[in-house]
Amino acid sequence: MTETFTIEKSLDIAHIRDQFPILKRTVKGKPLIYFDNAATSQKPKQVIDALVDYYSNYNANIHRGIHSLAEEATAAYEATRDEVQRFIGAASREEIIFTRGTTESINLVAFTWGRQNVKEGDEIIISEMEHHSNIVPWQILCLDKKAVLKVIPVNEKGELKMDAYEKLLGPRTKLVSLVHVSNALGTVNPVRDVIDLAHRHGAHVMIDGAQSSVHLDIDVQAMDCDFFAFSSHKVYGPTGVGVLYGKKQLLTDMSVFQGGGEMIKEVSFAGTSYNDLPYKYEAGTPNIADTIAFGTALEFIKHVGKDRIRDHENQLLEYATQRLKQIPGLRIIGEAKEKISVISFVVEGVHPQDLGILLDNRGIAVRTGHHCAQPLMDSFNIPGTTRASFAMYNTKEEIDELIIGLEKAVKLLS
Ligand code: PLP
Repeated sequence: MTETFTIEKSLDIAHIRDQFPILKRTVKGKPLIYFDNAATSQKPKQVIDALVDYYSNYNANIHRGIHSLAEEATAAYEATRDEVQRFIGAASREEIIFTRGTTESINLVAFTWGRQNVKEGDEIIISEMEHHSNIVPWQILCLDKKAVLKVIPVNEKGELKMDAYEKLLGPRTKLVSLVHVSNALGTVNPVRDVIDLAHRHGAHVMIDGAQSSVHLDIDVQAMDCDFFAFSSHKVYGPTGVGVLYGKKQLLTDMSVFQGGGEMIKEVSFAGTSYNDLPYKYEAGTPNIADTIAFGTALEFIKHVGKDRIRDHENQLLEYATQRLKQIPGLRIIGEAKEKISVISFVVEGVHPQDLGILLDNRGIAVRTGHHCAQPLMDSFNIPGTTRASFAMYNTKEEIDELIIGLEKAVKLLS
């Protein structure tokens, strides 16, 4: 990568904001305030440039070509695999499988490992705070295999009920699949404890890292999870690419996912042998450009410094929580002790969608609705929330604008 990163020791927000071209635009005549980072983060110039650079200078299919362009494209694509390995602390690059995103990574495990290992009467445990991506693939598998899906309940603060979890574990538990950080509540789950307990019962654990990977330091070896999934577009990278990490032995033993080019060693009508890891799970031409730019996004995060980003986001979370609580009738949904910079709230007598529209009129992008976590909304007995989620480029001044916008909207709507 040719781009150099020049971030000061402490987080220089003006300098960071300068590197995100979209932040210069206006919405409805107002400067854009982007608080929908849990849905997808904005992209720094370096990431956008990496896409343009690939298509302008070395667009070629990877792995099979011997010409210079193919070699350059292959090297850049594989460099992202190394970057991902470092980003999540995997033991080997063979444990990093590129997918379309978290959703596809979870489905890959359900359709391969799940099909092979889950039998009638076996049990899979998820939690009440899962994204639909970590519910539906397991429902499909359980229906298919006549297995049982069990759910860890969540308390009124939005934390996992660990005592209930312990009681759900048993000799038939095959897998626990848990979100690391809730996209709807911001709750950080005690994954280390969850994994230890599952392993003591001989169960494997999949962690949905869609929200955690951008905020927390991820070390899959220390965590000892069996599978870990995340998406590029939530870590300042492009859409359409993500990662499945799996322990090498599990990935070696698992059956293949999709058939096609690249995932094979030899094909004949008498039979086909499959490629080595990680290519065994990467059939067909992958998303080359976005994968390369994903690597650039991870480098960008590394250069800014995850700890400095986290400190800044935590300050924003604390400030916003304090200010939001002063708005009459507003209730924060999700007040776990361990949280990242996601705030969901409801306002008595006001529909979240109406709030979202009025805030958009002021250039403020928030998310409203069930956040792909309908069972969680049901457990709180609400149809949905308004959610503000913060990233490295957000500021206290933007939160002040949100508060002004909310106060005006609430007055108008209630
Ligand atoms: N899991 C969680 C916790 C999420 O927040 C999301 C996306 O919002 C997903 C899974 C699905 O991610 P993707 O749509 O990138 O596959």
